[in-house]
Amino acid sequence: MAQTTPNHTQTVHGWAAHDPSGTIAPYTFKRRENGVNDVTIKILYCGICHTDLHYVKNEWRGISIMYPIVPGHEIVGTVTKVGSNVAGFKVGDRAGVGGLAASCLDCQHCRDGQENYCDQVRFVFNGIFWDGSITYGGFSEFIVSDHRYVVHVPENLPMDAAAPLLCAGITVFTPLKDHDLLECKGKRIGVVGLGGLGHIAVKFGKAFGHHVSVISTSASKEKEAKERLGVDDFILSNNVEQMQSKRKSLDFIVDTVSAEHSLGPILELLKVKGTLVVVGASDKPMELPSFPLIFGKRAVKGSIVGGMKELQEMMDLCGQHNITCDVEVVRTDEINHALRRLADNDVKYRFVIDIAGSSSSKG
Ligand code: NAP
Repeated sequence: MAQTTPNHTQTVHGWAAHDPSGTIAPYTFKRRENGVNDVTIKILYCGICHTDLHYVKNEWRGISIMYPIVPGHEIVGTVTKVGSNVAGFKVGDRAGVGGLAASCLDCQHCRDGQENYCDQVRFVFNGIFWDGSITYGGFSEFIVSDHRYVVHVPENLPMDAAAPLLCAGITVFTPLKDHDLLECKGKRIGVVGLGGLGHIAVKFGKAFGHHVSVISTSASKEKEAKERLGVDDFILSNNVEQMQSKRKSLDFIVDTVSAEHSLGPILELLKVKGTLVVVGASDKPMELPSFPLIFGKRAVKGSIVGGMKELQEMMDLCGQHNITCDVEVVRTDEINHALRRLADNDVKYRFVIDIAGSSSSKG
């Protein structure tokens, strides 16, 4: 049943999962009026991240899903309203919203621009906002967002191909930045899993002057990865000889895999003192053998999206380097088909919903 919160008077058409069946259906709900700190954004496009699918299917134990959920956290569109306290945006601006809806803005993490690690962080869907309302995401016609969680989308980037930067992009950008891989060139970087996150990690790695290896389960992706994305080396993770021949060859690896897998063979690819950053989010425990860690003095870390300052920095860098995502644009009546194909690992490399272009079909 739709929630009723005072001041939530604007009717929005969207698309929601009502149960864990993995499908969504049209859903009408309410959003708050545009407040003094808010901007309202008419949503043009919204990416479909594997996180949306994890939520829709209730795949993460420990996170309680408040059905009906309106997924979508790779949101781009045009600003239509601006609150009186908002200086950085005006009506007509190209704007983007990622995973964050709110944070306390007062703790050390928030002050350091790491709102994503704030204890009180509120996510853009399936979260509880300050006024007690449930947050609804970007599979919808418009969103009202606190301006501190909105970024500008560079003029030269096509909106559809920019949308996945809001989550997939920042999630792989932050680990590269944290490990000084934006400045120093010529490192040997590995990307595990060539999906939505993985293909952008490849693009960043190449744009910032590194040798990029993909570690994949899908032999069918090799040709295009090399020819289209410029991948330098393609390693099949299920081919023991290939994996052994690349032992101790990489400085840094980002693991974007959405499913359970062992970290041992991946760690073996790292040089001594190399680092593996896990961003893929299977909720099943991953096998982490001690020998590849201790014999190689290797480190394993995790990372979740990025802070708002980093997000704008990344958008601007993408504008400068003309980095966009390879997307397959779908209509709203094709979302269920896209979700099924995403579950089947059948997308190169990101589905993006044309929200505004198909809003008349509501289906
Ligand atoms: P995606 O497009 O489905 O890509 C995931 C890739 O993982 C697939 O393309 C596939 O690559 C590989 N893969 C799939 N099943 C596998 C299996 N059983 N064993 C080994 N490899 C497998 O998903 P995505 O949108 O990039 O998201 C990836 C993961 O990151 C999801 O779990 C998502 O929830 C998570 N995520 C985390 C953050 C964060 O802040 N940390 C942010 C966004 C997303 P190959 O075919 O090349 O093997």
